[in-house]
Amino acid sequence: MTAPVPFVPFVDLAALIRPSKAEYLAAFERVLDTGGFIGGPAVTDFEAAFARYCGAPHGIAVRTGTDALILALRALGVGPGDEVITAANSFFATAEAISHAGATPVLSDVDDQTLLIDPADAARRVTPRTRCIIPVHLFGQIADMAEIRALAAAHRLHVLEDSAQAHGATRSAGGETWRAGSIAEIAAFSFYPTKNLGAFGEGGAITTRDPALAARIQRLRDHGQAGRHDHVDIGYNARLDALQCAWLSISLAKLDAGNAARRRLAAHYREQLTGSPGVRLIAEPGGSAPVYHLMVVRVAAARRDAIRDNLGKAGIATAIHYPRPIHLQRAYAHLGQGPGSCPVAERAAAEMISLPMYPDLTIAQVDRVVAALRSALA
Ligand SMILES: *Cc1c(COP(=O)(O)O)cnc(C)c1O
Repeated sequence: MTAPVPFVPFVDLAALIRPSKAEYLAAFERVLDTGGFIGGPAVTDFEAAFARYCGAPHGIAVRTGTDALILALRALGVGPGDEVITAANSFFATAEAISHAGATPVLSDVDDQTLLIDPADAARRVTPRTRCIIPVHLFGQIADMAEIRALAAAHRLHVLEDSAQAHGATRSAGGETWRAGSIAEIAAFSFYPTKNLGAFGEGGAITTRDPALAARIQRLRDHGQAGRHDHVDIGYNARLDALQCAWLSISLAKLDAGNAARRRLAAHYREQLTGSPGVRLIAEPGGSAPVYHLMVVRVAAARRDAIRDNLGKAGIATAIHYPRPIHLQRAYAHLGQGPGSCPVAERAAAEMISLPMYPDLTIAQVDRVVAALRSALA
């Protein structure tokens, strides 16, 4: 009898939590003992620690990453009649948030090497109605922010970083090192459990250098209240629970170690796969330290599904991020950006495979994934 093939999961959150379970439970007990579940020191301590980590003066915790994007857009004054440019290959929520703010998403194509928003293509989509651009730091890599900043300055656009996949990622430009969350005037993060910094449920945050934006967001997340029962905006109930913040403070202290592990694993994947016929890696921009939220490779579109099937049979879980660009989703048919409007993003969507990536993955497991991929490609 042959032994069953050991399974390589796509992510393993239980493995991440296991060694620190007592620490999380002790933090929960402290919150339970205070009896304060909304707001309080667990929330403000996390907000301060996260803002400091990102290098931004202000941090505001909110209910989800999607809310973070919506509240950031609302605080910037983006609304009906405005257009907001973002990357066609992001998670759907980036565009959805633009719609919820009352504005119209305009999907931009991406760079073929990095799959990050292409500033030249974005520039061609600017109209007199464009108010804001949302570069997405996709898969853990910082977008080309020097070019985005120049574009924004030329057209007086706001810049909102979608940092949901890039907690801790850095990129150098012009002699400066920039960290996700402190490059533009404002940034949105998600703490969905599988993100590099994850809650034990839903969570999100906004970082900003602008105290007026921070104050407006604090108001918006709490029903637009300036003071108790004094509602100056039509806001939201978008607060993040004290328990989630207590959890996140502990996880934040482990983020750099997790990101370093992801980088080591990615370096091994890259070393093993460089030059392998039939597989293409996503380029790492010079001066960048990506945090590998996902390990994405590209293969021939015609063979992608068969390759994934073969990996599955070899006990390796994979995924696709994302199989259909936003402008081709049925919900956005009314935008009229049909097939061919973002050709690079469309081609990549047909070629990408996300391979297993999480801090507790082992080099031996990466070797198994690489061997299975090579044999699937042969
Ligand atoms: C996860 C994600 C979001 C949405 O975050 P939620 O917390 O799930 O609402 C937005 N943008 C990107 C790029 C994401 O990966």
